[in-house]
Amino acid sequence: MIFTDEKLAIHGGSPVRTQPLPEESSGIHYFNDEEIRNVTAVLQARSPFRFYGPQVQHMCDQLENSVREKFNVNHVIGVSSGTEALYIGLAACEVGPGDEVLLPGYLWTSCLNAIVRLGAIPKLVDIDDTFTMSPIDLKKKITKHSKALIYINMSGAPGHIDKIMAIAREHGLRVVEDNAQAFGATFNGKSTGTFGDIAIQSFQINKSITSGEGGLIMTNDKHLYSRCFGIHDLGYARNEIGILMDTSCDEMYHLWGCGARMSELHGAVLLAQFNKLDQIVKHMHRSKYTIKKELETIPGLSFRTIVDTEGDSSSFLIFALPNSAMCDEFIAAMKAEGIKGRGYGKPLISMKEWGLHWYFNNKSLVNKKSLTPSGWPWTLQENAFAKEYHYDKGTLPACDDYWARAGLLKVPSNLEDGDVEDIIRAFKKVASHVIK
Ligand SMILES: *Cc1c(COP(=O)(O)O)cnc(C)c1O
Repeated sequence: MIFTDEKLAIHGGSPVRTQPLPEESSGIHYFNDEEIRNVTAVLQARSPFRFYGPQVQHMCDQLENSVREKFNVNHVIGVSSGTEALYIGLAACEVGPGDEVLLPGYLWTSCLNAIVRLGAIPKLVDIDDTFTMSPIDLKKKITKHSKALIYINMSGAPGHIDKIMAIAREHGLRVVEDNAQAFGATFNGKSTGTFGDIAIQSFQINKSITSGEGGLIMTNDKHLYSRCFGIHDLGYARNEIGILMDTSCDEMYHLWGCGARMSELHGAVLLAQFNKLDQIVKHMHRSKYTIKKELETIPGLSFRTIVDTEGDSSSFLIFALPNSAMCDEFIAAMKAEGIKGRGYGKPLISMKEWGLHWYFNNKSLVNKKSLTPSGWPWTLQENAFAKEYHYDKGTLPACDDYWARAGLLKVPSNLEDGDVEDIIRAFKKVASHVIK
């Protein structure tokens, strides 16, 4: 295709498209009568609380059962958010002062928050071309203080999760698998969210399926499950009619809990959404790989390595340019061609616009800030080993490099053939002018 004769929109030419792309929040496009029917049933029964009420509809129970069955895991707990699920998961693994938790530098800030709120120390690990934790760097970063690691299936898919699990097992590290961005993905035929000792999900609006807020904890370990259950709900188990077992529960599971229960209204929406997960992922997969196949021939444009493309949940297409200046020029030109959303939507951005997904953008982390004047947990005696740890830009070379020259296309779950063609056309047109 010859596009070089076509003037770029950014230089006054006509844009590839003028309509904004659909919202990237994948679950919302699939809301229909099923969600409405479930929510209505909860309201009509006047039973929005999952554990008791006049006529509990058991939406959360049904959701948890469906997830257990589909992913073949023993224990599933619906919770209020992915952020709380991470906190609960690490707390269940007994992470606290004196421990460090390894995590990649391309992340979401919730992962850092969970560690610091428990009084432990985050230990950064670099990524590789999969944009997830590098097994090579992980080996270099493990110390005798390492207690657990958070493996994040970033931007829709895992990287070398099998190698990471092997290293974790060898060193006796607990693994909390953050599957918030990859619900519905698989790796060599096994669902993501079933690799770690504990896995978490999020149902915030940007994730594969949504109820606005919400999350899940999944584990095969009965002891970890009992700890997670108590920690998510005030620190106690509940009896068969849903009452807190404040005096009768196993003393081993008298814990300090938070208020992270899932409501029946959230369960109602999610139960309907969960049945659509495969359909949503399938749609995104088809769009993403139609686009990617066309773009792979463009010289100078490279792509994030997806180890198992079959299993990719396909919510994002990550690409890289040879250098930072070219990347900025490329993204600006793409937006001018009409590859953009409306309002909050940002279907195509440079990694520089991706905020708290990069370690050094978290100022509380870089400055080792505390909620208290004492400087806790950085100043705790137990954490003295981490005195020299730093988190500013320059700590992780591969992260810094990709941050500077990579971009990201969020793949909406309802792209039509015409949208896909426009995206391809814009990439080719812009590449023919910008990549030299
Ligand atoms: C969204 C997200 C979370 C947090 O989920 P919330 O439900 O928004 O609290 C955690 N980790 C990752 C990688 C995420 O993308």
